[in-house]
Parts: sequence; structure tokens; C-alpha cells
Amino acid sequence: MSDVIYLRKSRADLELESRSEVDVLSRHEAELRRNAARLGRTVTAVYREVVSGDTISARPMMMQLLHEVELGKWDAVHVVETSRLARGDTIDQGIVARAFQLSGTLIVTPSKIVDPNNEYDEDYFEFDLFMSRREYKAITRRQQRGRIASMNEGKWVANKAPYGYDRQKLTGEKGWTLVPNDKADTVRSIFQWYTSGMGTSLIVRRLNETGVPSPTGKDWTNCVVRAILDNPSYTGMIPWGRRPAVKTVRGGAVTVHTPRAKEYQLFQGRHEPIVTKEIFDAAQDRLAHNKSRPGPKQAAMKNPLSGLVYCSKCGRAMVRRPYGNGYPDGLICPYTSCDNVGSRLDLVEEAVLDGLRRWLMDFDAGKRPEEAPEASQAAQVQRAIRDADKELADLQTQLMRIYDLTEQGVYSSDDFLTRSRENAARRQAAEKRLEDLAAELARLQTVLSARAELVPDLRHILDAYDGATVEEKNALLKSVLSRVDYLKTNRERWGLGSDMSLTLYPRIPFSFPPDR
Ligand SMILES: [Zn+2]
Repeated sequence: MSDVIYLRKSRADLELESRSEVDVLSRHEAELRRNAARLGRTVTAVYREVVSGDTISARPMMMQLLHEVELGKWDAVHVVETSRLARGDTIDQGIVARAFQLSGTLIVTPSKIVDPNNEYDEDYFEFDLFMSRREYKAITRRQQRGRIASMNEGKWVANKAPYGYDRQKLTGEKGWTLVPNDKADTVRSIFQWYTSGMGTSLIVRRLNETGVPSPTGKDWTNCVVRAILDNPSYTGMIPWGRRPAVKTVRGGAVTVHTPRAKEYQLFQGRHEPIVTKEIFDAAQDRLAHNKSRPGPKQAAMKNPLSGLVYCSKCGRAMVRRPYGNGYPDGLICPYTSCDNVGSRLDLVEEAVLDGLRRWLMDFDAGKRPEEAPEASQAAQVQRAIRDADKELADLQTQLMRIYDLTEQGVYSSDDFLTRSRENAARRQAAEKRLEDLAAELARLQTVLSARAELVPDLRHILDAYDGATVEEKNALLKSVLSRVDYLKTNRERWGLGSDMSLTLYPRIPFSFPPDR
């Protein structure tokens, strides 16, 4: 990013020019360039207003500049005086001030650098340019003081009530308070589930399954649940300044973001708490330790199958589902409306290891690579390829003979057509066979190299597995498996009743001997 110079003549400049030969704008440009150099700033553009309009809309370069300032294109705009940016009515002044303030663009004059986001500069900015905005700000400060006074009295000053509460007008005095509504039980349940060890994903799933309406009116999400869990209003308090709005401008439209502030003020409210301080604090403890970091990195700490097992029905990565209370973790499809039945994580893990053991047994049958069944199969295929090559050469010779015999008049033209067609068909078949054989040979060679690499890999994995950490286990499995597809349709937990089926995909593709 860089800076831009904006040049515009004032009325006084116009008068000066009419009396002398001075090129005012060039002189200003030179002055601003010197000032920029002194400040070590880089100017890459100079905007000269050639027409002199009183309003912004009558000044084309100003319109362009303002648009670019809104987009955050410039670090700073250099002008001889701040009043060169806006003159005329307060609406124009307001537009300019807003663009600079919201995009954080500096105004550099030979006497001062104005940072519109600096409280002190903001006053300067306003005093210098925008008296009416200064007054407006005084009004909002007054309103702010009024709000804080109300909150000190325990009143609810926000326009919206948190989920689980309704706003109610106070009787006999000004202001509002909150009363719990029929959603309060849902809030209570969310806190209870969460503090008893249930994860937010499971809570989301449960809420969506039971069809309880969410605060947004759409599906429950992790984000919505977390927003409830860390809202101190539910303990009877009134939070203030929790989410100071951060505004950005794009194309003239203001977007207000509300990132969460770490520090905020709390006032004792008059409203009835929905959860106790103890439960709320326990939830905050857990929230602090379970930062919402979706993705395999976090899960890898607790789930050896993280990022490895996929739902056969919808293709999503299966996730660990902790139950707490001493119950073993589950592995489930995270998609609420997917009907693939989850299993105990340890049972799936054991089944994956079983699969690896079976591979090892199958591959180990050959003991040494050259004793593997694929080795002799490959030799057979190579012989067949040599045969097919020879057949093709023979057919080529035969074709030449057909031409010769036709030329010598031994074959009639009918004979020629019949025999050459027959020859072409046989060549085509031989070529196809050769192609198939080459593909089969490639496959067998892949299996042979996979076997050569896999057998020691599998031994190492199965030997090292039990003593490994969860992360190491995950890495061991991923060293040999690219993915595992999971399917289960019935609710039988284990044993013969369970129809859980896993498909293991090795990192190095191979296929089992045909009879397996
Ligand atoms: Zn699924």
C-alpha cells in the first residue's frame, strides 16, 4: 500500500491565480511531495481536481478518491489542509469522515498527521472539519452514560433479549428487565449437558434431533451453542462491551463485525438467573480448555482414527463422540441427518487393526518377495506378452504375403478382401491382449513392491501400536492406510449381531490374490 496526493484549489487559490502567473496546484504538489519525503512516506499517485465544485458529487477526483479510501486502497491521503477534502454541507463532511474513520486511512498535511481512529485526532479531525459530527458524538456519549446508569440499576438496556428470556417493561419506572420464557429449560439443559462432559457437537445433534427451535430459527450449530454457554446474562448479570462493533466499509456499505472482546463489564441485573454461577463457571472452564478448533489436529489428540475413517453413506469424515461418565468414546458420522450407525471407537480401532493383521498374514504367506504368488504370476504374464508379440509379428508377415500373392494373381480380389479382413481382426485381438497383459503386469509389479514395503511396515505398525501415544497411533495407521470406509446399518453393538463393515484402502494400491 502507499499514499496518494489530492490537490484541489480553494477560492483563495483561484483568486491568487487570477492575479498572478502562479500554478497553485503544482506548487502544492511540490510542497506535499517534500513533506512526504521528509516523513519517509511513499506517494504513488497524484489526483488533481480540475473542476472546482462545492459538493463532493461535483468533484470527480474526490468521488474516485473517496471510493478508494473506502476500499482501503490508500495508507494515507496527503492534502495541504484537511478542509481540501470536504467543504460545503455537513452531509458531505460526514461522508468523508466516515470513509476515513472506517477504513483507518490517515490524512497527512504539512502541519499534522491525522489518524481518524485515534480518539485525540478524531476530535481534531472533527473540530477542523466536522463540527456537526462532534456534536453528534457528544449526544451518543450522553446516551452511553444514560445506559450505564440504567445498567447500574440492574436494567436490561439492549434491544434484544438473550435466548431463553423475554424483555419485560418495568412497572412504575422507566426501563426494561428480562423474564425467563419457555426456552429457559433448553438453556438449562445445554449447560447441564456441557458441564457433565458432553461435547458441543453432540449437544447440537441432540437439539436438532429433538427439534427445539434455535435462537437463529435455523439448525443448531456449534457456534450458537457456544454463544449460549459463554453468555453471563444467564447468571443474572448484564454484560456490557462484550462485543464492540468493528466496522469496515466496502463500496460505501458499512459492515459491522462483532468479534468477542476479552474484557467486558458486568453489572448485577435484576432478572432471574437461568443457571447458577457454579455451573456457568464450570462451563467457562471447559470452554477455555476446548477452544473451538474444528479440524483433525485437535481430534488427533484423542482419536487414533482421526481423519482416517469416512462415512460410507455421505462421505464425511467420522468423528469421535465422547460420552463422559466412564462410557467409552464413540465414532459417529457428524452429519445429523445421516443414518449411518456409529460404533464404539475402540471396536472400530480393533477392527482396523484386525484388517491390517489379515493383510500381513496374506502377504506373509510368500515369506520372501520372489516366493510371492504374484512373482510367478508376473513371470507367466511376461511369457504371454512375448507370445502375443510374436503373434503380431507373424500376422504382419502374413499380411505381406497376402499382398504378394494377390499381386502375383494367386489370390482373386475377393480372396484378398477376405484374407486381409481376417488378418486385421486377428491383429486387433492380439493388440488388445497385449494391452491387457501389460496392464496386468503393471498391477502385479505394484502388488509386489507394495508387498515388499507393506510387510515390514505392517509388522512395525502392529508391534509398535500398543505402546504408542494416540498421535503416534494415528500416524502409524496413516503410514499404511489412505482411508477406511465405514458402514453400519443396525443397532447391534458388537458380536455376530453387528453388521459393521470397514473397507481399508492402502496407501500403495494393490489387490489381494484373486481367491480372497
Ligand atoms: Zn454420514
